[in-house]
Amino acid sequence: MRDVLLDLVVGSECVGCARPGRMLCPRCLHALPSVPRICWPQPTPPGLVTPWSVADYDGAVRAMVVGHKDRGQFTFRRVLGGLLAVSVRAAMADDDGAVVLVPAPSRPGSSRRRGYDPMGALVRTAAARLRAEGRDVTAASLLVSNRRVVDQAGLSAGERSHNLSGSMSCPSPGLARLARRRARARVVICDDVLTTGSTAREAQRALGAVGLGPVALATVAATRRRIPDQTGGSLLSRGPRG
Ligand SMILES: [Zn+2]
Repeated sequence: MRDVLLDLVVGSECVGCARPGRMLCPRCLHALPSVPRICWPQPTPPGLVTPWSVADYDGAVRAMVVGHKDRGQFTFRRVLGGLLAVSVRAAMADDDGAVVLVPAPSRPGSSRRRGYDPMGALVRTAAARLRAEGRDVTAASLLVSNRRVVDQAGLSAGERSHNLSGSMSCPSPGLARLARRRARARVVICDDVLTTGSTAREAQRALGAVGLGPVALATVAATRRRIPDQTGGSLLSRGPRG
């Protein structure tokens, strides 16, 4: 709340073009991507459900994701939730049956610090947007991160996968049963950024462990992997692997 007030009182500039005024000016708002696409990470974690995304993790979108998640810029919730809704809509295709959106859990201590769950908020926003279109969509925060995992930045795909393996669970069997009982409800995992797919794959595993089979992954943005992941690390100048 304080951050929102600060933005309003102190004034701000557009995260897209730095023009003073709104944090996302009308021009940059209208320039946001709106065409969903399937973005398989390279390499793709085995068994990963179809990953949908709308934007490249770049420019204004990246600034909004980081601002919303780490800097308390809650004002971006609606725009990012809208982008996520585009992704979910694509993942659902023409099927207008019941859908349960499950946010990827944040690391313990990282996001709920301010008593605000950024990803949960985006998923609820996307679900509300889709319900307004007459679709049967609910949001359910079924997953938690059980232990501290190392910050993912700078880790290779393999390291991320190892880092996250077994880190998530569904602590509410009742909730999972509820989700299962919904007639033909399909589960879509939601995240803000698709990088290696490791987070989504772990979420998939944890949901599978309580009998839920996610059918797709919907994200706001996907990173472009400019450096091919080399298991031997030849292109990435890292120290010896432990
Ligand atoms: Zn702008």
